Amino acid sequence: MTLSRLIKNLETTVIRRTWTESIKNINKSFNRRLPFATVANSVESTPVISAASEAVKTHFPVGSKISGFLVKEVSDIRELHLTAVRLEHVATGADYLHIARDDSNNVFCVGFRTTPMDSTGVPHILEHTVLCGSNKYPCRDPFMKMLNRSLSTFMNAMTGSDFTIYPFSSQHPVDFRNLMSVYLDAVFNPKLTEYDFLQEGWRLEHEDVNNPSSPLVFKGVVFNEMKGVFADSQQLFSQKLQNGVLPSHTYGVVYGGDPLCIPDLTWEQLKNFHAYHYHPSNARFYTYGDQPLVDHLAFIQDNYLSKFTKIDPKTSVPEEPTWSEPRCAHISCGGDPIGGSDQQTSLAVVYKLVNINDIFENFVLQLLGLLLTSGPNAPFYESLMEPQFGSSFSPFAGYNGHTRNTTFAIGLQGMKEEDVDRVKSAIDDTFKGLAETGFPSERIEAILHSIELSLKHQSSSFGLGLAMALAPLWNLDTDPVDALQINRNIEHFRKCLAENPNFLQEKIKKYFISNKHKFTLTMSPQSNYEAQLLEAENLLLQTRVTSLSDNDKAKIWEQGQTLRQKQDVEEDISCLPTFKVSDISRNITSTLVKDLSLSGGVPVQICNQPTNGITYFSAVLDTKSIPGHLQPLIPLLCSVLTRMGAGQMNFRTLDQEIELKTGGLHVATHVTPHPVDVSLYEQGVHISSHCLNKKLTDMLDLWSLIFNEVKFDDLQRFSTLVKMTATEQANSLVFHGHRYAMTSSTACTSYVGSLAENWSGLTALKHLKQWSEMEDLAPVLEQLRDLAKLLLSKQYMRVAVNTTDEYHDKSLNTFERFFNQLNGTPKQHSPVTSIPSDFTSHTLRCHQVFPFPVNFASKAYAGVSYAHPDSGALRVLARMMFKFLHREIREKGGAYGGGAMSNPGGAFAFYSYRDPNSTQTLTKFDDAVEWVLSGKFSERDVDEAKLGVFQSVDAPVAPSSKGKRCFLLHISDELFADHRRCILDATPQDLVRVARVYLRDAAVEGACLIGPQNEDLEKDPFWSVVTN
Ligand SMILES: [Zn+2]
Repeated sequence: MTLSRLIKNLETTVIRRTWTESIKNINKSFNRRLPFATVANSVESTPVISAASEAVKTHFPVGSKISGFLVKEVSDIRELHLTAVRLEHVATGADYLHIARDDSNNVFCVGFRTTPMDSTGVPHILEHTVLCGSNKYPCRDPFMKMLNRSLSTFMNAMTGSDFTIYPFSSQHPVDFRNLMSVYLDAVFNPKLTEYDFLQEGWRLEHEDVNNPSSPLVFKGVVFNEMKGVFADSQQLFSQKLQNGVLPSHTYGVVYGGDPLCIPDLTWEQLKNFHAYHYHPSNARFYTYGDQPLVDHLAFIQDNYLSKFTKIDPKTSVPEEPTWSEPRCAHISCGGDPIGGSDQQTSLAVVYKLVNINDIFENFVLQLLGLLLTSGPNAPFYESLMEPQFGSSFSPFAGYNGHTRNTTFAIGLQGMKEEDVDRVKSAIDDTFKGLAETGFPSERIEAILHSIELSLKHQSSSFGLGLAMALAPLWNLDTDPVDALQINRNIEHFRKCLAENPNFLQEKIKKYFISNKHKFTLTMSPQSNYEAQLLEAENLLLQTRVTSLSDNDKAKIWEQGQTLRQKQDVEEDISCLPTFKVSDISRNITSTLVKDLSLSGGVPVQICNQPTNGITYFSAVLDTKSIPGHLQPLIPLLCSVLTRMGAGQMNFRTLDQEIELKTGGLHVATHVTPHPVDVSLYEQGVHISSHCLNKKLTDMLDLWSLIFNEVKFDDLQRFSTLVKMTATEQANSLVFHGHRYAMTSSTACTSYVGSLAENWSGLTALKHLKQWSEMEDLAPVLEQLRDLAKLLLSKQYMRVAVNTTDEYHDKSLNTFERFFNQLNGTPKQHSPVTSIPSDFTSHTLRCHQVFPFPVNFASKAYAGVSYAHPDSGALRVLARMMFKFLHREIREKGGAYGGGAMSNPGGAFAFYSYRDPNSTQTLTKFDDAVEWVLSGKFSERDVDEAKLGVFQSVDAPVAPSSKGKRCFLLHISDELFADHRRCILDATPQDLVRVARVYLRDAAVEGACLIGPQNEDLEKDPFWSVVTN
């Protein structure tokens, strides 16, 4: 996953991310970004010239003292256009890194090294409870509430195996200071009350809190969250792999919390953990952007750091002692949720590497990790994936650079149990072979090229990506400024290779052949796995319950009542700072785009932008004329089109060329409603790619080769791809269950919704699973050939190009040449078309049964067009309901999250995420509507909802994405400006009215519940039950 993709995902969800997911992504962003985040051959000698950079160089000479901080280092990192300032807080030893860069999307992050020595999940529960109220802001969950009082572009808290970080970003100085105040007060002055601990951590409580004779059960937000996490066998496997290879210290425990150990944690232990770990002497502060550092320092010193003195937090993490013999282990897991295959074993071998502080060695190892596993030319792809030993690489595969000793893992999932030994030998043999042959130089160049490109690519969340990438390194005392000086490493690397042609072979011998510190883990499903987990939990529960005295039981009853009362109290949150709706500008800055027609009629939208020497290409190929029997194959075509080979190139050569010349060739399905007329929509395939300007001809030649001569003849390759894609998507179900539930519940409410379900919902997933289990895929491949012939031409193609001013003319010539190479004659056509007359929206309630211990619930209603006067009010309504739903579904119901979404032009949908309740939650959705109709909300609630909506409406747009709203969604700047006004002008009366008209009085509704068997629904005639 690329960094921009990661950030986009982070922005589009209001669910706070789970601990492991965050960390997985942090690692990925680190892998993608850091050691390589620079140009291999550009040693520039000019200093960084920018206003932000000048300001820090003038005011922060090394050795000076400002607001209690000593300036230790000021360094220009030219290739990243930034100046880094390193400071130390003299009285406490707190570490500070400021990155001055001319970027208005400023970032703040405070992080602590958190090193648990047991699996009670104490750092994770602490991360939750510090957000339950602080001295200055004594209200519950200030983060969630600030989401509605701020125009932040990102807000979150994340726990990793040895750190906890609290990052946010915002473009507005006042907002930035507001958020900084809330964050700092949360971490340094949290209330940490016993009730916060009970709510967020764990507690014994009556199953029905209002019924003292109902049985006692374990409850708690983290307790439930972790049950959900480990229901995902991928997560379980990653966790056990890390525990197994680094067992002796903090990496040997489950930092997020093992559900069977969480009930060992006491409130006292939690407070104690806070006192030592969340102390300035154990803290790292990070600020980024164009706001003045001097103000940040004064604020932090005056309000917080001046009140502390230095302590020894005792959080150092030692290196893992090296083993004299390899080790191995086996674990069980639940069955594949999609089921039905005998290929469900996972295997991985993980090797201990070096201390994370050794920047160059880790740089080399990371490069080696990419050479070994990335793309179809990687040796492990050839030796493990191609013989189809498994469906895809195991979780955690590749270089992992976030622990004291870094690690490398390799293995497979989706294997047959009897292949375990063959795969182990194949791994050993691959390393032995490589120790002899090494890597072709084109492979090394291809990877260095992708680094050059990823550096030049301007993301709208650069500062945040940097904070995440640096966090694991800096946390373990790797110098963060050194870590940014990457040109140095690349040059050193090239020098090492030039002087010693066996440089990489020697690393392979050292780390993978002679290394005794390796751990092999296998995992296979056990039929009664879920039942056993439940039994273990019940056993623990019984032990706890039988040891309770009558007094204890009375206390638990009272506690449950008090907690419920506290949750029901309407809080006064006026203590929290807020950004004002009236501060939002009613005007927008238009994006200049030019519309042209090339090569006899291909419509092209050109947008000149400061893209840093990169050209971005995007095209939509209309699919409405594709015959019905081929339509279900469109998503499959998208996933394999650029991965099968073309012309004289087999898939390996093609992949190498793509890596050498572009940032990747992407293909995806595209469905969008017309912004004005709901009876119209567009369906198509969206292709996109980018490259350095100088490689544009090469990139377009690759596309034209694929268009004209894609090779759909390698059945073996095709079958590998189908299996891989099926596994990846099945794995995503337990993570994105709420998205699948929403897509499914929306399908019956509109034609666009039904198409989205067919192309990217559970329906698509089931098709994929069927193909992956077919003995003979030849007929499917044959159909794909037919589909490709119909689709890949310029007949119904429209294009968007973002490039630099200087390159504008040259790029047009290159595109003209490209279009001339493509088949077909451009036809005059409207991109949008009428929805089929045989589609009528209808009510449908569907229970999709999967063996998960948690549910994902959704309910949906038809919405209005983007330009409709009510579209603004519906968006504000969805956002405002979050307040009600969060309390009912998360705080009271114990789900990980819940909310509502109104997609302009799409449906209005409610959802819950990792929810212990099923149908009760659907009732809560109805209660949310009643809550609005009863008018029990304030003007303030409406304003907060508007701010929440504007966080996404006005999110920063990178130069590569300017003009895309118009190109992909047909939303002109005028329509956008009207829609913004519609949101700003929505009144409380409007919200009540749209809730009545579009929700309560809706003629049609869709509902979907993804989760375990449910007897009530089986008996309910209004529900259809689908067993998977
Ligand atoms: Zn959590």
